[in-house]
Amino acid sequence: MDEADVRQKARAFVANVDVSNIREDLSPYVTAANAKVKKDELGEGESGYTVTKPNGKHIITVNSIETDERQRFTVCHEIAHIVLGLDSSHEEVPSWSYAKRHPNEIACDTFAAELLMPYQQWLSAAPKEEPSPELIQHMADMFCASFPAAASRFASLSDMPCAFVTMERGAVRYAARSTALRQAGAWIPPRSAIPAGSVAHRIRSSGNSVTETGEVSQDVWFDNWEQGLDLWELSRHYQRTDTTISLLWFDSDELPTVEVNRFGARVEDDGGLAELTGELPWPGRSRRR
Ligand SMILES: [Zn+2]
Repeated sequence: MDEADVRQKARAFVANVDVSNIREDLSPYVTAANAKVKKDELGEGESGYTVTKPNGKHIITVNSIETDERQRFTVCHEIAHIVLGLDSSHEEVPSWSYAKRHPNEIACDTFAAELLMPYQQWLSAAPKEEPSPELIQHMADMFCASFPAAASRFASLSDMPCAFVTMERGAVRYAARSTALRQAGAWIPPRSAIPAGSVAHRIRSSGNSVTETGEVSQDVWFDNWEQGLDLWELSRHYQRTDTTISLLWFDSDELPTVEVNRFGARVEDDGGLAELTGELPWPGRSRRR
């Protein structure tokens, strides 16, 4: 099951539920999943779990000492386990950590984001303007979601070429790209170090939990990219967990005009398709001459 399958399944689930009041009340989802939610004081760092009774009813327990926004995310994450039929592996890995998370857990987080921020509601509510910390916080508040969750949603649903990058302990863990950026073939390799010259690198080095926006050269983040064009980076660092997030975006007219073939490789200027090697075409192998 890849990310697109998970999103499709989540949207099919949402389509069968009355979501008109879902930003206030998740119970239509809970009912649709044949579940019930219980609140209990669980250990620190434990967000929740689900027990299925012999009659098939699922009892979702969420940690009452966590924030409302976190509890809502947990309810949706547990519903994902039920609907997708994926077993939990909630070991001692903190939920903010992508580092060692099981693929099932990442799939359930993707499903949860679709439930918390239904894409039709998001698209009609999101201002058609460039992102700012205020805009992302406004969307997070509107959907009772975290700032990183809203930033990630912004990137994946934007018309603009943009990307959302999650970093931990100085390394890239996960990058989500908008359709426009995927079509342009922009690629950020996972597990690479946070690039020097990025806003993320600068604020993490400062050792403080801060949010900053700045303009950086495109080849800082996309190393197979032409130099000299600029992109914007809005970055926030969380000192306690050593987690950094960045939202990257281009002005549409600043995006290099490249064509991508159906294998995701950039098409060469001479008109010939890049040779298929079975390797990812990044970085730089098909740089235009
Ligand atoms: Zn889980």
